[in-house]
Amino acid sequence: MAEFDTDLFVIGGGSGGVRAARIAAGHGARVMVAEEYRVGGTCVIRGCVPKKLLVYASHFHQEFEDAAGFGWTVAPPVFDWPTLIANKDREIARLEAAYTTNVEKSGARILKTRAVLEDAHTIRLASGEIVRSKYVLIATGGAPNHGAAIPGIEHVISSNEVFHLPSLPRRILIQGGGYIALEFACIFAGFGCDVTVVYRGDNVLRGFDDDVRSHVRSEMEKEGITILTGCTVARVDKHRNEFTSHLSNGSSVASDQVMFAVGRHPNITGLGLDKAGVAINPENGGIAVDGFSKTSAPNIYAIGDVTHRVNLTPVAIREGHAFADTVFGKREVRVDHADIPTAVFCQPEVGTVGLTETQACNQFSHVDIYKATFRPMKATMSGRDTRMLMKLVVDGATDRVVGCHIVGDGAAEMVQILGIAVKLKATKADFDATMALHPTAAEELVTMRTPSARHVRAAAE
Ligand SMILES: Cc1cc2nc3c(=O)[nH]c(=O)nc-3n(C[C@H](O)[C@H](O)[C@H](O)COP(=O)(O)OP(=O)(O)OC[C@H]3O[C@@H](n4cnc5c(N)ncnc54)[C@H](O)[C@@H]3O)c2cc1C
Repeated sequence: MAEFDTDLFVIGGGSGGVRAARIAAGHGARVMVAEEYRVGGTCVIRGCVPKKLLVYASHFHQEFEDAAGFGWTVAPPVFDWPTLIANKDREIARLEAAYTTNVEKSGARILKTRAVLEDAHTIRLASGEIVRSKYVLIATGGAPNHGAAIPGIEHVISSNEVFHLPSLPRRILIQGGGYIALEFACIFAGFGCDVTVVYRGDNVLRGFDDDVRSHVRSEMEKEGITILTGCTVARVDKHRNEFTSHLSNGSSVASDQVMFAVGRHPNITGLGLDKAGVAINPENGGIAVDGFSKTSAPNIYAIGDVTHRVNLTPVAIREGHAFADTVFGKREVRVDHADIPTAVFCQPEVGTVGLTETQACNQFSHVDIYKATFRPMKATMSGRDTRMLMKLVVDGATDRVVGCHIVGDGAAEMVQILGIAVKLKATKADFDATMALHPTAAEELVTMRTPSARHVRAAAE
C-alpha cells in the first residue's frame, strides 16, 4: 500500500488553492482539493467579481445623468435590483462551473467537503473519511469580522449577505472606512439609496496616500453620501423593517439595512493547526510562513488571505503558483510583495501603486511630489461637479518614481500599466521623456513638470 493517498491535499478551492492545484497537477503531482462552500472562493463567489458587476450596474446612474449635456434625452431610468442579482448569480454560477472544469481538466480531484488537519499528513473530511497526503496546502482564505459584539449585532449584515439582499434598501448605513465599505457605499448611492458611512478613524481609506483619502471623501460627499468619522455604531435596534443605529457620539441614524465592513480575519478556526504543528504569526493572526509560503510544519504550506500578508486575489494566485513550482516543479520561486498595484472601485475610482507621500518621506531624505487636480474633459460638458487627482511621489536622490496615485475614471486601468513602470524603477525623467497621448486624462502623468512639494530632511548632526 502506498504511504500516502495523494501527493498534495489543498484545503480551500479559492483563487490561491485552485491555481496551486492546477499547476501542481500539471507538474505531475496527484492532487486533491477540498472546498466546503463553492469552487472559486471569495473572489469569484462573494468578492471581487460580483462586486465589480454591481459597480458597473451602479455607474449607469451617472451615465444617464451625464448624457443630457451631450444632447441626449433619456426617459427617467428604472432600476430593478432582483434582475441585477439574478443576472449576477447566473454569471457567478457560470464562472464556478468553469473553475471546476479547469481544475478537473488539470487532473486534480475536487472534494466538495470541509477538511481539517488531524496531524501534519492526515486530513479528516466532514464525512469522517481520512486522507493521508505527502504535502498539504492551506488556502482557506478569510471571513468578515463584525468587530465588538454590540447589542443588536444580529441585525447587521456583512459583505457575504449584501450580494443576496431580496430588495434594494432605500437607506443603508455602512460601518467601515476601508475599500469594501466605500465600494458598497458608492454602489448603493449609484442605485439612488440614501447612504451613511460611519468610521471610527479621522478619515476613510487608512493606509492610502493622504491626498487620495481627502479627495475620495470630498468626491463621495459631493455625490450625497454622508460620511461620519470619529465615531462607531454602539447599538442597533430593530422596529419592524427599520433599524436605528445608535452611534458613540450620541446621535442615531435610521436605515433599512445596516452593513459592517470593518475588516476580515484568516479562516483558521477548527482547522487543527495545533495538531499539525502549524504556528500562527502573532503580528497579524494569520498562518506564519517563510518567503516560500512554508509553515512551521515542513510539509505544510499556506497561501493567500489565510496568511494575512497582502489580501488580494492576484497575490493569492501568485503565491499558489509559486508554491506549486517550488514544491513540484523543481524551480524555487519566491513571491515579490513589493509595489503591488491596487484599486478601490468607489466612485470616482482609486488606483495606486508604490509608496504614499508619508511612507516615502520616512524612507528617503529627499522626496519630490508632483500633483495635479483638474476637471476631467467629460465633466466640462456633462456639468458634473467632479475633479480628478494625479500624484507622483519621486525619490529626489535617484529621480525614481516610487509612488503613483490616481483618483478618477479609469484609475485602476491606468495604475495596472503604471505598475510596470514602477517595477522597472522608471525615473521621473523617463516619465518626462514619454510623449503624451492627447486627449486623455493620463497624459497628465507625463506632463507634470514642477514639483508641488519638496521634502528635504536635514542631515543628522
Ligand atoms: C467584498 C470583497 C471584495 C473584494 N474585492 C477585491 C478586489 O477587487 N480585488 C482583489 O484583488 N481582491 C479583492 N478581494 C479579496 C479577494 O477576494 C481575496 O484576497 C482572495 O479571494 C483570497 O484568495 P484565497 O485563495 O486566499 O481565499 P478564498 O478565495 O477566500 O478561498 C478560500 C476557500 O476556502 C474554503 N474553505 C475554508 N475553510 C475550509 C475548510 N476547512 N475546508 C474546505 N474548504 C474551506 C472557503 O469556502 C473558500 O472557498 C475582495 C474580497 C471581498 C470580501
